Amino acid sequence: MKTSRPIVVRISPTAILHNYRLAKRRAPDTKAFAVIKANAYGHGQWRAVEALRGEADGFAVLECENAVALREAGVTQPILLLEGLFSARDVRAVVEHRLTTAIHCQEQLELLLQHADPSAAVSLCLKLNTGMNRLGFTEKTLPAARAALQRLPNADITLMTHFAEADGERGVDWQLARFKSLAGDWAGRCCLANSAAILRHPQTHADWVRPGIMLYGASPFVDQSAADLGLQPAMTLQSAIIGIQEIGAGERVGYGGTFTAERAMRIGIIACGYADGYPRHAPSGTPLAVCGQRTTTVGRVSMDMMACDLSEIPEARIGSPVTLWGRGTAGDVPADEVASAAGTIAYELFCAVAPRVPVEVEAS
Ligand SMILES: *Cc1c(COP(=O)(O)O)cnc(C)c1O
Repeated sequence: MKTSRPIVVRISPTAILHNYRLAKRRAPDTKAFAVIKANAYGHGQWRAVEALRGEADGFAVLECENAVALREAGVTQPILLLEGLFSARDVRAVVEHRLTTAIHCQEQLELLLQHADPSAAVSLCLKLNTGMNRLGFTEKTLPAARAALQRLPNADITLMTHFAEADGERGVDWQLARFKSLAGDWAGRCCLANSAAILRHPQTHADWVRPGIMLYGASPFVDQSAADLGLQPAMTLQSAIIGIQEIGAGERVGYGGTFTAERAMRIGIIACGYADGYPRHAPSGTPLAVCGQRTTTVGRVSMDMMACDLSEIPEARIGSPVTLWGRGTAGDVPADEVASAAGTIAYELFCAVAPRVPVEVEAS
């Protein structure tokens, strides 16, 4: 719903396409499943599909219903179900709509065998657990899976795994070693890398990669910024100043009075709160921009409003534009910086933007 309350989330399809192309340049000889789960990390599944449909080699989603909707909308590329099958209906949809499904446990494999014609040309990503310890077959459970797969002679199989620490110090080589040991003499296709592995670990690129967060212009790393990686922010959360208070030294701001002014200050009240998806745990000092100038939050974030310091921005008035994160009129406020101040990651900020925030799609 278009509202006159000044908050808006702006989505840039051009940035998503730019970031996808960057993933492809960093992993030049591989194909990429653009990961659009969780409503494209809060950017809108269809907006991401529209941005990428002419270029993405494939798409990755969670829900079979979403994959079918993509097919029905004319998406012809491979579509990967990242968590695989949940029901007999999913099996039938995978066959009928030529979806690619992860298979991560024997139960899923049995479900498939039970409801698919054994001669069907199903496309599978057999998921190996190489240390994430979330989903996938291990040394113990893989032999039974391999045996069961003999019963699907026309299955098209890719081996898949997921990295737990591609963004961190431990890296990926320990998981790659386990992958190679599990794969044995496997000469078929492999699909391993998330954004962090695409950007830092070229030895993981293999046949297919799965970029997620980088498509949306945030960094998977704590020690390297999105701008430094050449990524463009695809989401800008913007609002405006709706109130101004001149306060004296010793005055406190907001619920709980967690912020006390040490000197006279000019405080701006912004139409954005945790009910809009802004993190309530963002402490005083979290960055934002008013009139294009960087400043910080002050006091606790409340449901519909939050406060900021306007002491050094004398031109700020009621109605002045505020960038909570994303593209500013004079420089970006990286979502990664806001997330880090709030003790979370940009993934969570993006996914948390509330349905009540009107969306504007930037013209490409
Ligand atoms: C979400 C997800 C990705 C994308 O990860 P990013 O860190 O966002 O690049 C890749 N693979 C799997 C299995 C996922 O669930």
